[in-house]
Amino acid sequence: MSDIETVVYAVLAFIFGSVIGSFLNVVILRTPLKQSIITEPSHCFSCGHRLAWYDMFPIFSWIFLRGKCRYCKSKISPRYMIVEAATACFYCLAFIAFRFIWDFDVWKLVFSAILFPLLIVLSAIDIDHFEIPYWCSISIAVLGGLSFLLFPDEIVWYERLIAFGIVLVLFAIMVLVGGMGGGDLQLMCGAALLLGYKVFVALFIGILFGAVYGTIKKFRDKKDERVIGHTIKGIAEKWYQNQLDREIGFVMDGHDDVIVGSISEGNPDIEWEFLEEKVWKGLPEKAKLTQTLREKIKDEREGGFKIYIKGDTVEKVKYSRRMVFGPFLSLGIAAAWFVGSFILNWYMGLF
Ligand SMILES: [Zn+2]
Repeated sequence: MSDIETVVYAVLAFIFGSVIGSFLNVVILRTPLKQSIITEPSHCFSCGHRLAWYDMFPIFSWIFLRGKCRYCKSKISPRYMIVEAATACFYCLAFIAFRFIWDFDVWKLVFSAILFPLLIVLSAIDIDHFEIPYWCSISIAVLGGLSFLLFPDEIVWYERLIAFGIVLVLFAIMVLVGGMGGGDLQLMCGAALLLGYKVFVALFIGILFGAVYGTIKKFRDKKDERVIGHTIKGIAEKWYQNQLDREIGFVMDGHDDVIVGSISEGNPDIEWEFLEEKVWKGLPEKAKLTQTLREKIKDEREGGFKIYIKGDTVEKVKYSRRMVFGPFLSLGIAAAWFVGSFILNWYMGLF
């Protein structure tokens, strides 16, 4: 393949990727809502105007329309363009890797063409819904299963299984301790089958970038978290005082307990089953607290709270917003897929 051919193919890969990215936007929006991804024609979310082909031209339509609907001028999220551009770049990179790193291994190219869309879709859905769709993780695990047969020499079969085992244990602990979700666990188990020991490169990159972002986010959200925590405390105090006044459902003197709950799209969910029943005098009125919380914190998207009760007072309330790891783990998986061997070899060479 000559240099000119390489450039032409790389550009074609970019264009093909942008078209796939455009389709991924539809998958991201519609599959979590269980809507069909093919039958419905695309339309503007504000005015409902049906979109023409030139409104849906990947990447460029968004740029030329300056992120606004041609018909009603309402804003269109840059997310669409970012998804298209990211897929385009991935496809282009995959082609370059195919040419220079993988010695024209067609299966590597085919795997990339499936893997990257999955990573982009699961990242975007995780951001939107705080959930990694299991069909994405299963598809990655299937790629992992197939690679036992297709790439038996590159990674020995037991390496994949050992990596799988370690990731399973590691993530099960992180899920139990908190911070990671079950979706993250499924994703990384699938990735371990696919990547073998390279999954630790993915893990390292994912957790590193996730931690940096998490720190920035914590800093940014601090004020909001405090305000919401304060609101919850006010509600809890009133509710608890009422319980005390009527002498039902309160924590006995000298004891304490924590009410643990979460908020999802403005809906509170309290895990009453975690209450230590023997320190309570009677059962607390569950529905009342949930209902008041629902009325007062409608606008909050995702977070968890803890209400600390000691004897006859609500001592304090801690509230923190939830953070997604899917996009960072995906970034790590993509990097490990491309250059994981280089990084591992380099790291091993240090000793
Ligand atoms: Zn419109």
